[in-house]
Amino acid sequence: MQISENASLKPYNTLGFSVKARYLIQADSDDHLREALDFAQSKGLPTLLLGGGSNIVLSKDFDGVAIHLCQRGKVADEQGDCVLLNVRAGENWDQLVRWTLDNQLYGLENLSLIPGNIGAAPIQNIGAYGVELTDVFDSLEAIKISTGEPQHFSRSDCRFDYRDSVFKNELRDQYAIVSVTLSLSRSPTLNIEYGALKTALQQQDAEITPQRVSQVVRQIRQSKLPDPAVLGNAGSFFKNPVVDAALAAQLRENHPEIPVYPQSEHKAKLAAGWLIEQCGFKGCNRDGVGVHEEQALVLVNRKGGTGDKLLNLAQEIQDTVSNRFGVSLEIEPRVY
Ligand code: FAD
Ligand code: NAP
Repeated sequence: MQISENASLKPYNTLGFSVKARYLIQADSDDHLREALDFAQSKGLPTLLLGGGSNIVLSKDFDGVAIHLCQRGKVADEQGDCVLLNVRAGENWDQLVRWTLDNQLYGLENLSLIPGNIGAAPIQNIGAYGVELTDVFDSLEAIKISTGEPQHFSRSDCRFDYRDSVFKNELRDQYAIVSVTLSLSRSPTLNIEYGALKTALQQQDAEITPQRVSQVVRQIRQSKLPDPAVLGNAGSFFKNPVVDAALAAQLRENHPEIPVYPQSEHKAKLAAGWLIEQCGFKGCNRDGVGVHEEQALVLVNRKGGTGDKLLNLAQEIQDTVSNRFGVSLEIEPRVY
């Protein structure tokens, strides 16, 4: 087990903020993870679990033990048309998507090019282009942080919801996910109903295959989302708000062009990016941080920004959207 002291976390957060951890441990096996948890307990320090760092805002130095989960490996269990694929937490999500497609395993194509590792995918039930992790999820294995004991979670145990799970709520900070089992299929069932995806596929005169869907999702994403390797960001900074249908109807009366996606008889989802753009923030700059030019939902670290500056901008956006539309925006990444 490798322990570094006073370690920079800059390479471990895609916003690229320069903060330090008192200790940083690379955990490339369950035994090393348990040793790291014991080490933190023996020092009386809190732990911070790190995957790819693409859904966190590090606003200050971490006076504790940061543990980078980097266990690799996957095992497939063929069950006829269905294949149960068990993947260790440190595997990169998008490399996994590519590997499944190369091996004729289907179900992940709409989730192409999402950064991060598989261990974090259940935390917010990652989703894009009309598909969520829960659609292909079988179960996961975790280790209880306080005791080191293993625990199995079924899909219902995880209580997945829109960009949400039990690990963001009742069980927040209580478990380290060490592997996830996905239920994939040998015969593709394509989901191409999502507006932007459908339009792009229709514009191309080619057979619609899972590989094609993945390729188109990649193209759309690359055209509007900044690559964290080039411009620091954590993807969508706010969740798309789900509001009362009555408020959505009233907003539509005042703003006929507002995108509204009904969720049930009583609830509707609004596009947070649209609300932010209407308030004039798209492309703005504030002291090293700002809002992306192509996608107003993505806050960026332009040069030398800090977590505090980014959170100040986020607050300004939240206040402005609330005053103008009466809608509260909730920050999606985890703030430390
Ligand atoms: P991290 O940022 O390292 O961690 C996130 C949280 O999970 C932290 O609280 C951390 O402590 C905890 N955690 C990490 N690993 C574990 C573990 N093994 N066990 C327990 N807790 C753990 N998200 C989407 O849902 N859909 C998208 O389309 C999408 N697009 C994105 C595009 C860009 C450009 C970026 C930068 C982000 C995007 N995201 C998207 C957000 C992000 O990629 C996902 O949430 C991803 O699953 C985070 O994985 P990670 O390994 O980077 O997690
Ligand atoms: P978009 O296509 O510009 O659409 C804007 C918003 O409208 C989306 O966030 C989406 O909500 C909603 N929407 C569009 N068509 C919909 C439909 N047919 N049914 C229901 N809701 C619909 O979005 P985008 O920003 O380019 O992102 C594309 C996809 O990638 C989205 O699914 C988005 O969630 C995902 N993404 C997520 C992150 C992240 O960090 N969480 C970052 C980048 C992209 P949904 O978000 O519910 O789909």
